[in-house]
Parts: sequence; C-alpha cells; structure tokens
Amino acid sequence: MSLDTILNQINGRARLIAVSKNVTQNEVISLYNQGLREFGENRVQELKRKSEILSNLDIKWHFIGRLQSNKINQLISLHPSLWQSCDSLEIALEVNKRLNYKLDTLLQINSAKEESKQGVDPSDAIEIYKDIQNRCENLNLIGVMSIGANSDDENEIKRSFEITKNIFDKLKPQGAVICSMGMSGDFNLAIECGSNMVRLGTILYR
Ligand SMILES: *Cc1c(COP(=O)(O)O)cnc(C)c1O
Repeated sequence: MSLDTILNQINGRARLIAVSKNVTQNEVISLYNQGLREFGENRVQELKRKSEILSNLDIKWHFIGRLQSNKINQLISLHPSLWQSCDSLEIALEVNKRLNYKLDTLLQINSAKEESKQGVDPSDAIEIYKDIQNRCENLNLIGVMSIGANSDDENEIKRSFEITKNIFDKLKPQGAVICSMGMSGDFNLAIECGSNMVRLGTILYR
C-alpha cells in the first residue's frame, strides 16, 4: 500500500512508527525521503547497524523487541528515542541501574495473554507501572505498548486492544500519554480502539 494511502487512513490520529526490521537501509532512506522520521527495530544488533549507517539522517529510533540482558549496555549506548518493550520490573531495574541519562519507556502489556508474547499480565500492569516509576528514576515511563491478539476473529483482536486502552486510561493520571498498538493487519481497528501510535512493517513495503 502506498504511504499516502496509509497516512490517509491514519488521518492524523496516531503517530506512525515505520518498522524496518526486515528491510535494508535503502527502504529506510526511501521512507525517510517521503517524510518519515521515526523507525523501529526489534534487535539491538540491527538497531546499531542501521543507526550507524544512517547516522547522517535525522531519525528517531525506537526499540520494540525483546531485550536480552547481555544487550542492555549496547542498547543504552545507542540512545534510542523510545524503548517500547519494557516487559518486567526486573529488566526495568537492570536497565535503570546502568543508565546515565533518562530513557523514555513504554510498559509492554500482554493483553491477549498469549504464551509466545512478551509483556506483563494485564491484571498486574498498573501495579508494575507504578513500581517502575517509584524505583527507576532513569526510566521515564510515558505509556503502554501492546500487540493485538493473533486471531482471525476481529472481536478477539478488538478485545485485546480494549484491555490495553483501559489500562492506558487508568495510567493517564500517572503521566501516560502514549498508547502504542496496531500493526499492518490491524492498525485501523487499533486506532478505533484508542491507539495513538501504530507500528507498521510489511504494509509499507508492498
Ligand atoms: C514486526 C513488528 C511490528 C510490525 O509488524 P507488521 O505486521 O510487519 O506491520 C510491530 N510491532 C512489533 C513489536 C514488531 O515486532
């Protein structure tokens, strides 16, 4: 789908993060030349590679993947613009301890309760969010991130988005301003359910 068509569908309701995990730097440059400035990677090694090759471009890099403890220092050294995938108090404490600057961060919620997915259980999310705020002075928590249910049933996907949106609303008094949900297959539904940040990969490149 063309970027114009996608932007028309988003219609200013959500920030678009272009996920570049499966494409080369040339695709990033092409989207950059069409005006995009925020890109997401799910592996620290690839984030490092692309951000170094493209260091002359004014790109804000988001980290959206599972953070292995042996990659924490490398991620910190790359100064990502947003760590979207903080998924436990333990990893938050570990990153916090090593940070020497404030890192904008989202708490990832496993709203579909899928074994294969990262993220905190919805019923623990608010408490963990507050714990991180109280114990991690170098993490600047500014919202939540979630991946929609992996299902053909639109109602089930919608329910998972509503769970995340509900938690987001409850965290607004704690300063939550970003609700990151919606990918290529479900971003319109996610926005209808209250997302204000979508992370699009495949749809941008076909
Ligand atoms: C890959 C990925 C995306 C983008 O997925 P598409 O279906 O290609 O749009 C979004 N968020 C996360 C966390 C991802 O890993």
